[in-house]
Amino acid sequence: MLHGMTARVLAAALLTATSCLVAATHATHGDTQGGDQFLDGIGETGLAARYVLNANAEDTSRNQFHAAMRGSGGTFVDDEQFRRALLLTGDGSYLQLPGETLTGEDTLSVTAWLFLPTGASGTFFDFGQSASTRFFAVANPSGFRASLVLNGQTLGETPAVPFLENRWVHVAVVLDPANRSLTTYLDGARAGQVPGVTVNAAQIVHQTDRAANRLFVGRPQDDAAPTLHARLRDLRIYRIALTERQVATIRTNALAGPQTTARRGAPDPEISTAGIAAESPLASRLSHVPDITVNTVVGTLPHLPAEVAATYRDKSRGPSVRVIWPSPTDNSEVMKPGTYTVTGTVPGTAFAPKATVIVKVPVGTYTPPGRLVEPFPLSDVTLDRDTKGGDTPFIRNRDKFIRGLAASNPDNFLYNFRDAFGQPQPAGTVQLDGWDNQTTRLRGHASGHYLSAIAQAYASTAYDEALRANFLQKMNYLIDTLYDLQQKSGRPAQPGGPSVADPVAVPPAAGRAGYDSNLRKGAIRADYWNWGAGFISAYPPDQFIMLEKGATYGTQDTQIWAPYYTLHKILAGLLDSYEVAGNKKALDIAKGMGAWAYTRLKALPPETRISMWNRYIAGEYGGMNEVMARLFRLTGEKQFLECAKLFDNTNMFFGNAAHDGGLAKNVDTIRGRHANQHIPQITGALETFRNTNELPYYLIASNFWEIVNRSYMYSIGGVAGARTPNNAECFTAQPDTLWQNGFARGGQNETCATYNLLKLDRQLFMYDQTAKYMDHYELALYNHILASVAEDGPGNTYHVPLNPGAQKRFGNADMHGFTCCNGTALESNTKLQDSIYFRSADNSAIYVNLFVPSTVTWQARNVVVQQTTDFPYADTTRIVVQGGGRFDVKVRVPQWATRGFFVRVNGRNESVKAAPGTYLTLARTWRDKDTIELRMPFGFDLTRVVDQPNVASVFYGPVLLAAQESGPRTDWRRLALDTDDIAKSVAGDRATLRFSIDGVPFKPFYESYGRYSVYLNVSTK
Ligand SMILES: [Zn+2]
Repeated sequence: MLHGMTARVLAAALLTATSCLVAATHATHGDTQGGDQFLDGIGETGLAARYVLNANAEDTSRNQFHAAMRGSGGTFVDDEQFRRALLLTGDGSYLQLPGETLTGEDTLSVTAWLFLPTGASGTFFDFGQSASTRFFAVANPSGFRASLVLNGQTLGETPAVPFLENRWVHVAVVLDPANRSLTTYLDGARAGQVPGVTVNAAQIVHQTDRAANRLFVGRPQDDAAPTLHARLRDLRIYRIALTERQVATIRTNALAGPQTTARRGAPDPEISTAGIAAESPLASRLSHVPDITVNTVVGTLPHLPAEVAATYRDKSRGPSVRVIWPSPTDNSEVMKPGTYTVTGTVPGTAFAPKATVIVKVPVGTYTPPGRLVEPFPLSDVTLDRDTKGGDTPFIRNRDKFIRGLAASNPDNFLYNFRDAFGQPQPAGTVQLDGWDNQTTRLRGHASGHYLSAIAQAYASTAYDEALRANFLQKMNYLIDTLYDLQQKSGRPAQPGGPSVADPVAVPPAAGRAGYDSNLRKGAIRADYWNWGAGFISAYPPDQFIMLEKGATYGTQDTQIWAPYYTLHKILAGLLDSYEVAGNKKALDIAKGMGAWAYTRLKALPPETRISMWNRYIAGEYGGMNEVMARLFRLTGEKQFLECAKLFDNTNMFFGNAAHDGGLAKNVDTIRGRHANQHIPQITGALETFRNTNELPYYLIASNFWEIVNRSYMYSIGGVAGARTPNNAECFTAQPDTLWQNGFARGGQNETCATYNLLKLDRQLFMYDQTAKYMDHYELALYNHILASVAEDGPGNTYHVPLNPGAQKRFGNADMHGFTCCNGTALESNTKLQDSIYFRSADNSAIYVNLFVPSTVTWQARNVVVQQTTDFPYADTTRIVVQGGGRFDVKVRVPQWATRGFFVRVNGRNESVKAAPGTYLTLARTWRDKDTIELRMPFGFDLTRVVDQPNVASVFYGPVLLAAQESGPRTDWRRLALDTDDIAKSVAGDRATLRFSIDGVPFKPFYESYGRYSVYLNVSTK
């Protein structure tokens, strides 16, 4: 029975996942227990923990919050419906969840199957700190109910509803602070609800002291009270408020299979859209949107303009209008020379402009762009204080991380490596939590980020010798230890002992039939002499081998979690230690592991690699192509460049094995894909281009940038957060549908994704000095990266939700339990100065990209450039040249600087033509102390959602302003403005960026730590 049932559940999961392109490629699949990306149609980012309870109390979600069985009576017994289930007999046995399981959550849904024998009763769950602060649900003779108790007061209790005994009942309890409700469901139908609930989970659970949290299943907080007598199965804790339909789907999928539950299309909007006009505010003023003509070459989809100049009634001037053009999924329309027509839409209007596309045979040859610009070394740029000697937001965030890193114990970051190689731990070493705990199959990822961060911190702290020495010592210690471990791999443990040096010949662990991902204490293999020469990771090689054999993503021992992703972090950390901080041994380690990976991958047929890299999460490889191409650049060894190409994501890059389409031909192949799985692949393609000059790799990167920036981006400069597919980490299912398919309640804007988008901006700028790349850099740096760090320490965000009344959640303040985003935050905040300035490769020009108080030493020209400013608390900056010579100063004129851009040199006004979104060149022979003063008046602007132009964000210059909210919301905050001149609707202080707009307080998003709304229902006053 189990087999038939799981197969149907699996089919259901696949059906609901088909809109996520990569997920649909799953052909074979073991079981549904794994933390797969979609479970019953819900993205895994919504799942905090899942206890299947068929054999043990392990959390099978990716978070691995394994529960402890307390007491002696809990047993797993045969069961007619579920084959196996947990039986608690009311004898004092229960489950206890780790104290950190619910930290950071304000919304909770708890679901499970519960079987109460006749006459039995007890506590289903009780999450809290004591009898006076708890969230619990009980089943007893009066029925089933859920309660919230805060400081001894019951602040919400659902009506008790009858509970059927002696049969399995699917139960769900949903605490939904946004809707101020607490709801129970029995067998998929709403049973009891209490409205007006003002308590959220973050008030029940201690947020910093995990030991204070008592999270029980099967017993109440009262130590003397009886425990539950019942059977339990498939207990899940979600961090989203499940809808009645979702609860019903979870239940029916377990019982009946997909035929009664398959449901396609976007889930209903979770935020009310009532009162938002459908018509664009421009609609009544527009008189004409002209047709256009564009050219393209055979095979390449045309680059249709996002905006078209329109004409307005009464000959009044108005902005260009945003046009959404059809976005075909392949390039079949352009495979032959000729002409065809497509029709676009202007959202919120009836206008339907046409584009005539002329497809021509390409003539001549296209010369690949050269890398004309280079960054400055991190150590040559320092962040300075503001004009009053105060710390800037950049310095504040940098120092939060520098302090944490300086105090960190590198042995903790080496724990899993030593554990994998069976080596003793130095006294005082503590294993990391989060995604680096004992059983998490991603362990080691944080150590890779840590290596990069320590290297960058070393390079970035030239201002403090003691800090530099601290970081240098840490880096050398880390590298020495990893080097020594790597030397063991594939070599006899004792002289004359057995060993396997060939990476392709790694055998399964002794006594096991095959490879597995069992990392539990006592079970993890440590026979490093069999692992092949050069191997280094924080777990044995099995996950790499299992990926080749078809293993999918999940938390069973037959499943894996992105081995090459983790390896990319480690290799990038090693190369940063070498390239940024000069540690030569780090390069040797990277070469050894690079060769190991190459040896295995080149032995595989191309179909196997295509299948691997298209496998959701399991085949996520971060930027392995980037790190391998980089390894080639640093060593000159051809094998590494060949290895980089073995990581080509062929379908996304080139459409198919024949390279007929894909991003290289400007086809949008990213729709519905996991954002952060794929963005690093793009920076990797660009690094491959850097080392091969093969044009398609450049086009993959530049086309991707256009598609993402135009069609998938939120106003903070981040991406993802799809409702369709229902996964907070995926791009929306179609371009230009943020409103229709985005704004997932489970979150948007994974911070890693933006970290990677910034890397892409910077690297594209090296080839194409178009201001758009640095415009996005500035946008996302201020409004996402700067905004992602806690006020009082290095805690930082995973997703940055932009739903009305949302709140940022900051994690990992103690640098001890890392998610992916906690990892990239270490890197982002130790290199905040890295893109303020660039230089031309021939040292004939310096680029001033960002207006941040800072000093750059231009070694090749013996010039120092110092920028003094209070930007963005002022709209001016002063740039002083120390030294001199003939060179160009190229200053970015931001795209938002539409109210003039004024330049003075040595006190004299310069008459310049400075169009927004360009670079202004100031060419002369500079003399010591020459001074450039720039002024770029800020204005208030709206950034509208492409497919719902009445919903918009408010910017002041480069700064996203957030409406400050007192609580969660279920609607989009209305904002009435004089949209012709927004400043008329604003009061406040431009020096502190504190404003009142339409009576609502606003401040910079990067200074918002409470609840906020950054998207508003804007109407014209
Ligand atoms: Zn992340």
